[in-house]
Amino acid sequence: MPFQKIVPPAAGEKITVKDGKLHIPDQPIIAFIEGDGIGYDIMTASKRIWDAAVEKAYGGQRKIHWMEIYAGEKAARIYDGDYMPEETFEALRQYHIGIKGPLTTPVGGGFRSLNVTLRQVLDLYACVRPVRWYRGVPSPLREPEKTNVVIFRENTEDVYAGIEFESGTPENEKLAAFLRREFGAQFFEGAGLGIKPISAFASKRLVRQAIRYALERGRKSVTLVHKGNIQKYTEGAFRKWGYEVAAEEFGEVTITEDELWEKYNGKQPDGKIVIKDRIADIIFQHLLLRPDEFDVIATMNLNGDYLSDAAAAHVGGVGIAPGANIGDEVAVFEATHGTAPKYTNLNKVNPGSLLFSGVMMLEYMNWWEAAELINRAYEKTIEQKIVTYDFARQMEGATEVGTSEFASAVIANMG
Ligand code: NAD
Repeated sequence: MPFQKIVPPAAGEKITVKDGKLHIPDQPIIAFIEGDGIGYDIMTASKRIWDAAVEKAYGGQRKIHWMEIYAGEKAARIYDGDYMPEETFEALRQYHIGIKGPLTTPVGGGFRSLNVTLRQVLDLYACVRPVRWYRGVPSPLREPEKTNVVIFRENTEDVYAGIEFESGTPENEKLAAFLRREFGAQFFEGAGLGIKPISAFASKRLVRQAIRYALERGRKSVTLVHKGNIQKYTEGAFRKWGYEVAAEEFGEVTITEDELWEKYNGKQPDGKIVIKDRIADIIFQHLLLRPDEFDVIATMNLNGDYLSDAAAAHVGGVGIAPGANIGDEVAVFEATHGTAPKYTNLNKVNPGSLLFSGVMMLEYMNWWEAAELINRAYEKTIEQKIVTYDFARQMEGATEVGTSEFASAVIANMG
């Protein structure tokens, strides 16, 4: 069925998936959602940079053909009040890769959040957040270059499953009575109740994706982060299932931290990654004090939520932290910050978060040369102290520029 409002570009080919493997043609069609608020500014600037890098790296042999799809306020204008049209999901299912700016959550619109809806409907079960430092970026750490981790956060269960019962409601009272009567559970009268489901299925597919990523990218370890000392049958089970999937499916190429010491005297053998685990509270301290001990991290939803924002602060904050939500057949790359409405159309904000989400996308497509061109040109631009307002106020002697001028400076530095 043809789309109602989406217009596929005249040129370019669809990305395909066969037996779980992506096939990326040289001229792929990629879907983008502009985003609300500052979305227009950062998407326009970032697209210029991505296109310039691809052109520079492959001399016209490769090119992205952009296809606009709609969500948020722009969708509501085009689709008569519908903030999340069905054909947006359909386009992402058919074209497999999308990139999006931030979206306003409509108040009282029947959606918990457009972003959450997108993840749930397309089963984008892993939220992937790389956290690395770019030379020159203001950081509160003395040695920010030691931070280089990729956090895999489970997207579909834990507190995000939203199984909650409000204090004072009949549902709450029924469940409270049941828990007291059947299990002898003890808690204060009138307590709000929430249920935290953690399954073997969701835990294993998340850890599987994290281990595959570590293997493909030559990473050294995968750390399972959990609070299993207290929540034994949810967080503790995540840990257990994580080790199980490593042993059962990647036994040849993984070792546990215990084996590392018992069999290899602490010296990591070539070709094997180490699977270890840490309690969720201490990981915050370790990431701050000994960041180079961590590489890929896999965790459940709430831990991952806290940890990825905290880690982002070590290397420049959410203004430049990229992210993606990745399922088995669809990946959506996205800015991790919100719509910053007070800066809408002021050509002011930092496009870094969306820009680096695009770099993640290029890496996901194996277009490494284009990704690396952007990384290097970005560092050069920051070294020249050409920055947007948010960095300018943290740097001495900076030249403050707008979003679009910043993009032009990055493109000029690709030469
Ligand atoms: P926000 O991230 O939009 O803004 C908070 C502050 O961070 C801004 O005022 C600004 O000072 C700064 N900031 C954000 N992005 C920046 C950038 N690129 N460059 C420089 N500074 C930047 O968070 P908020 O104000 O809590 O949320 C506003 C709206 O965004 C809400 O409707 C919320 O639902 C939505 N939101 C969307 C997403 C998403 O789409 N992924 C994420 C978070 C919030």
